[in-house]
Amino acid sequence: MDEHRRVIKDVTVLIQDDRIAYVGKATDVTKAANVELEIDAEGMLILPGLIDTHVHLAQALIRGCADDTSLVDWLQKFVWPLQGNFDGEDGRVSAELCMLEMIKSGTTAFLESLLHSRYGFDGIAESLEKSGMRGILSKTVMGLPSYGSEESIMHPGMIEDPETCLREVENHFKRWNRAANGRIRVWYGARSLGGCTPELYTQIAHGAARLGTGITMHLGEVQEDVRFAQRQFGKTPAEFMDEVGLVGRNVVFAHGVWLTEEDWQVLAKKGASIAHCPSSNMKLASGTASVPEMMRAGVNVALGCDGGPSNNCYDMIREMKTASLLQKVRLLDPLVTDAETVLEMATINGAIALGLQKEIGSIEVGKKADIILVRTREPHSMPAVNVVSNLVYSASGEDVDTVIIDGEVVMENRVARTLDEARILREASERSSKLLKRAGVEISPKWPVE
Ligand SMILES: [Zn+2]
Repeated sequence: MDEHRRVIKDVTVLIQDDRIAYVGKATDVTKAANVELEIDAEGMLILPGLIDTHVHLAQALIRGCADDTSLVDWLQKFVWPLQGNFDGEDGRVSAELCMLEMIKSGTTAFLESLLHSRYGFDGIAESLEKSGMRGILSKTVMGLPSYGSEESIMHPGMIEDPETCLREVENHFKRWNRAANGRIRVWYGARSLGGCTPELYTQIAHGAARLGTGITMHLGEVQEDVRFAQRQFGKTPAEFMDEVGLVGRNVVFAHGVWLTEEDWQVLAKKGASIAHCPSSNMKLASGTASVPEMMRAGVNVALGCDGGPSNNCYDMIREMKTASLLQKVRLLDPLVTDAETVLEMATINGAIALGLQKEIGSIEVGKKADIILVRTREPHSMPAVNVVSNLVYSASGEDVDTVIIDGEVVMENRVARTLDEARILREASERSSKLLKRAGVEISPKWPVE
């Protein structure tokens, strides 16, 4: 992922403290005497850590709880009642489960988009610190309990008032932004159209400018977003967001499925990014985003896994394949969104979206040491004629062997070092049954379970 997109065989990467100190042919390195730790990456790819630009940490615990259902039912009958019954411990366990899955599938940095207060922000931030991951936590800001033109449909447990939301973002920012050697950042998570008044969006934009931080928001995920913006404001979604001042380099819009050409122009001009979430868009039948067209218009398009009930996994390697195949079948053109392009989306484009392109997204001297090793000597990765193609089309997160973030080894030989896998899996299972009971949500599998 350097400027020339070099694929270097028999490479050595040296890390000093939290940064990359050398990248080059192994034969050019005379072994330094004071190497503290040497990792043999024989038979593996050394890649920049993957960057997931649209994650719901609090949805890992409700994986598989809202499948094969319409979007309104998905939200109203399952996702919101469950999330509206979360307590801080559910939030923490869900975040840990999600981060464990991300680490084990090669994601080193992520943007969490909507943390409601009841999930327990501090507990989640503490878990993030402990996990060793690089993460941006966005605190929800909302003004209205609506979703598009569906008024007052939100679960009571999810409703927060705008003043408290804005105050909490500032408090979390003061306590956590740039904590853990800069691994943690705090952003504004604006609720989607219908969930905030125009004035509140402007307040969010001003707040972010004042703190020098970012904003993320779902935009144009469903067709109704476009109709709502047109009916309510006489504008396209991005034109409206631009009017209220909420489009800029510090903004990541999730999905952008139904954005128009006019919208792409606005995003490109202002430097806002799109977090494309193909699996979620397919599973919820939201539509197919115009990825190559947006890119041609100059929009930075990154990749996201979205959530436990919409994807239903947080595996960026699988997501790369889905992203590529979806565009090919949409345009009936096998040339579009090739393996190299989706690898860029999952790494350097993600770094640009998060405003961290000087720090992460590639393996280059001076950048942070966020590096993954991916096994290639597997039946599904042979023969290794084109390693980029094999990674995107043949591999999965299970092939990730070792994960280094900020110069620290957080997983080695598929064993997580920072998070206690056995404890997290046990707690997730226990908390999930309690949560379903408390929320009164019944999941009835279509086939009899004996
Ligand atoms: Zn989402």
